Amino acid sequence: TPLIGVLALQGDVREHLIALAAADAVARPVRRPEELAEVDALVIPGGESTTMSKLATLFGVMEPLRERVRSGMPVYGTCAGLIMLADKILDPRSGQETIGGIDMIVRRNAFGRQNESFEAAVGVAGIDGPVEGVFIRAPWVESVGAEVEILAEHGGHIVAVRQGRALATSFHPELTGDHRVHALFTDMVRAAG
Ligand code: GLN
Repeated sequence: TPLIGVLALQGDVREHLIALAAADAVARPVRRPEELAEVDALVIPGGESTTMSKLATLFGVMEPLRERVRSGMPVYGTCAGLIMLADKILDPRSGQETIGGIDMIVRRNAFGRQNESFEAAVGVAGIDGPVEGVFIRAPWVESVGAEVEILAEHGGHIVAVRQGRALATSFHPELTGDHRVHALFTDMVRAAG
């Protein structure tokens, strides 16, 4: 059974730990480089990407994260986690950095004020039947490079992508009790061996 970390600097860590356990993975929180070194894969939760970026630098884990993602560790980011996996943010806050790993440009808080939070049924490639997408001040993916597979769109905007062993969703499957996206990720982790 693979050991999957959840980046626990900020955000909805507990919900991901529960969802991963339900998808038959062993999961634990990760904050420090030593803890990152022990896991086979990593989930980056939803929360606030600017704060997460600052804390990652403060905890000395930003560079180790970049190295592990570059060297092919399976990684899954939701919402703020998707932003952390973007090679480029369209509208970064000053000093905001990302881990990168997915050749995409993201727009933060993209769905706008009137639609700050909403739920919508989303079709996700590789999953049978719609997934209930919970969007909370969610980003969308503005554009992707040739290596990126688009897994889901909502309202004409890209909301789930995969590049190699990196998976990202604008929405929060960890909040719904439906563990199929986490199961998709744990399958990716098992396939990576
Ligand atoms: N708007 C947040 C950000 O820019 C993301 C919100 C979320 O993760 N639910 O980081």
